[in-house]
Amino acid sequence: MPGSKLHRRGLMLVLSSPSGAGKSTIARALLEREDELFMSISMTTRPPRPGEKEGRDYFFITEDEYTQKVENGELLEHARVFSNYYGTPRTLVEQHLMAGEDVLIDIDWQGTQQLRDSARYDVISIFILPPSYDELEQRLMMRGQDSEEVIRKRMAKASDEMSHWPEYDYVIVNDVIEESIENLQSILKAERLRRTRRLGLDEFVNSIRSRN
Ligand code: ADP
Ligand code: 5GP
Repeated sequence: MPGSKLHRRGLMLVLSSPSGAGKSTIARALLEREDELFMSISMTTRPPRPGEKEGRDYFFITEDEYTQKVENGELLEHARVFSNYYGTPRTLVEQHLMAGEDVLIDIDWQGTQQLRDSARYDVISIFILPPSYDELEQRLMMRGQDSEEVIRKRMAKASDEMSHWPEYDYVIVNDVIEESIENLQSILKAERLRRTRRLGLDEFVNSIRSRN
């Protein structure tokens, strides 16, 4: 087996940010550029927003269904955010990792802490910051998805969410979008090469050394 094609274990690329900083925009662009990267679709008890699709943006479930899934251990992590419940379905993520594929996971700081505790070596966490307070507010308004009241709430929550930046492996300030996407792509590329993630290195090196 040539060295460049060594099998590897997949990783979880976890993205968090205050709402409106650009996480979904960056995630979408990265998914288009990377073949071996798949999006984890979360479950949520919040109702769909206009334009959101079942199974593409979220799996929309009731609170009873959510409670059942938590009890059955079907969620890799779960948390209450903005008075709704959210969780990451376990099975699909684990299948991708076993197949040596990476999974992009968009969750808040509470979920990231849980994943870090349960699977530290499989998790690479990235916090995305806006370039300024005003720009964050501007982006929320430009997105046109939320009422003034909701935007006020999101801005109030942003400061809380941002206080968790030191818990992350990497931080990207999302000013110029193309640079942010490239930075995230570089992180992924380097982390894929990490020694501990590359299965079969032992045999590979031994096979070269034994030719001597
Ligand atoms: P999040 O997923 O973090 O809530 P979005 O990806 O929905 O944020 O982005 C919020 C808004 O900001 C969208 O209208 C998006 O097009 C815009 N946006 C994202 N990144 C940038 C950027 N670097 N410069 C300017 N606008 C951006
Ligand atoms: P929204 O309702 O705006 O789509 O998401 C609100 C927040 O919930 C975002 O910060 C998003 O990252 C977070 N979120 C979405 N899915 C999950 C999930 O499965 N688990 C956790 N912990 N947070 C999630």
